[in-house]
Amino acid sequence: VHHNEDKIDYVFKVVVIGDSAVGKTQVLSRFAKNEFCFDSKSTIGVEFQTRTVSIQSKVIKAQIWDTAGQERYRAVTSAYYRGALGAMLVYDITKRQTFDHVARWVEELRAHADSSIVIMLIGNKADLVDSRAVPTEDAVEFAERQGLFFSETSALSGHNVESAFLKLLEEIFNMVS
Ligand code: GDP
Repeated sequence: VHHNEDKIDYVFKVVVIGDSAVGKTQVLSRFAKNEFCFDSKSTIGVEFQTRTVSIQSKVIKAQIWDTAGQERYRAVTSAYYRGALGAMLVYDITKRQTFDHVARWVEELRAHADSSIVIMLIGNKADLVDSRAVPTEDAVEFAERQGLFFSETSALSGHNVESAFLKLLEEIFNMVS
């Protein structure tokens, strides 16, 4: 569905964060373009991608920002978080360390983003079932304690990517409307 630019009711800025190589860029491309790129990046260049969706007859343009590799240098700046209404906090279900760092990313959000930011915790690479290192229950428990939404996704297959973004956008919509 293509929407006319001048009929956009809301623009929601969403940031994607998490450790390097967890699949942030691929999750974003899956949602924005329904693409998965096998030999991707190094992410230098594109700062954000957009996709327009309808929620309750309103036209919402999601402007979704990628760190562009800044997280490698611990250099994600407060400008990145400015104006963000939502965050996708991604870890890799096959790399325990990327989940252990999620608490740090939540602290980073609490420090730099708006206090009402809606956060969706994403366990990505759910297609790699034989390499799982993070039990789903660990993430469910963490998310409940921290007041985050949670989903496991595969950017590769597309599993749950759409529903996770739509859930986040709906929650933002409910907050602002
Ligand atoms: P980023 O550094 O967090 O942006 O991570 P990328 O999006 O560049 O992905 C890092 C690597 O993981 C790439 O080789 C991707 O092809 C791979 N990858 C990303 N998402 C998935 C996924 O859902 N499943 C699998 N099997 N690989 C993925």
